[in-house]
Amino acid sequence: MAGIDSLAERVGGLRGKRVLVRSDLNVPLDGAPPDLRITDDGRIRASVPTIKALADAGARVVVAAHLGRPKGEPDPRYSLAPVAARLGELLGAPVAFATDTVGDSARATVDGLSDGKVAVLENVRFNAGETSKDDAERGAFADQLAELADAFVSDGFGVVHRKQASVYDIALRLPHAMGKLVETELAVMRRLTEDPERPYVVVLGGSKVSDKLGVIDNLLGKADKLLIGGGMVFTFLKAQGHEVGRSLLEEDQLDICREYLARAEQSGVEIVLPTDIVVDTTFPSGDSSPSPRVVPASQIPADCLGLDIGPDSAAAFAAALVGAKTVFWNGPMGVFEVDAFADGTRAVAEALTKVDGLSVVGGGDSAAAVRTLGFDESAFGHISTGGGASLEYLEGKELPGIKVLED
Ligand code: ADP
Ligand code: MG
Repeated sequence: MAGIDSLAERVGGLRGKRVLVRSDLNVPLDGAPPDLRITDDGRIRASVPTIKALADAGARVVVAAHLGRPKGEPDPRYSLAPVAARLGELLGAPVAFATDTVGDSARATVDGLSDGKVAVLENVRFNAGETSKDDAERGAFADQLAELADAFVSDGFGVVHRKQASVYDIALRLPHAMGKLVETELAVMRRLTEDPERPYVVVLGGSKVSDKLGVIDNLLGKADKLLIGGGMVFTFLKAQGHEVGRSLLEEDQLDICREYLARAEQSGVEIVLPTDIVVDTTFPSGDSSPSPRVVPASQIPADCLGLDIGPDSAAAFAAALVGAKTVFWNGPMGVFEVDAFADGTRAVAEALTKVDGLSVVGGGDSAAAVRTLGFDESAFGHISTGGGASLEYLEGKELPGIKVLED
């Protein structure tokens, strides 16, 4: 599929061309306006190579992105202004900022760009057309965005599973190409699904089984081992007949978990569940200090809830990753945000850094866990920027923002 080089050929060179890049700059922020602080700039960093390549080729780069979930109208809490400033620092060059998406400021900012310079438009979700389910409303916004550019580059991997104006509809209106980040992410996803190098181990955790059913379903036919931890494990433990106390439980998923366990056994996929669990009597909150306790996974007390995999399980999970040639990990093993329940997640992350093959971390919270627990990102094969998008790809679903680039 076509990248930036082929786009340059199709539009007769990029110098002087206005190129609208859809990036994923949806970073976590702390504080309140005007003192907002970016707590993890991973997604901005990941967007730099494409923006820089276009600028180096002499394009006038117009970056479109969203931040948070504003309600289709301007909201200062979700302004991209601090993100544009950080992008400028990372690029080592000034970045112009338009205070609207497609209005007077956007037009003036784009008109004022010289070759090789970069501008960021205000949060595209300040316009209701961006995420509208109505094709005409979305199309009208895409028309206005398209007027700001001569070509479109899709580089926001975190949003390619969304049929939205700046992701999907705009590609119907302008010559288009895939950015470097999307190319890289897709290449990794392909290695996880098409003929993966074996042994192939999948580690799943996080909060809910129901979020990840499609992935389990699809990967059960591909992986050699499936390790399960996090909040979702209690539905599996219950499906095996154990009591799980007050742990996270999705009663309506019990049958499907039983079916997965049976299917794994028939197809020779090894499912590894924790044998011990770190429990507490309350879910951790700011005002209580945790009193963690380790119990056998088969004997979770009725008044307790499971908040992490235990030390024996952490060691067993790490051992199961030794010698793996392909690993996909999605979902923390416990409530890693609280130190007392972070050991399981830390042990799995540590084991992934030792994998001599392709190790992939997917999922927003998992990627955040790796970074906040202090791991060096370069110790992993790939940290995906797109939680939902990578999961939908692994479920075997078609991603609208990718499909539209093929035509
Ligand atoms: P990702 O974003 O990586 O896909 P999820 O969103 O599925 O991951 O899940 C992340 C959340 O799961 C974290 O906030 C973590 O606190 C929570 N979690 C992990 N283990 C448990 C547990 N045992 N009980 C409740 N929540 C859990
Ligand atoms: Mg999440």
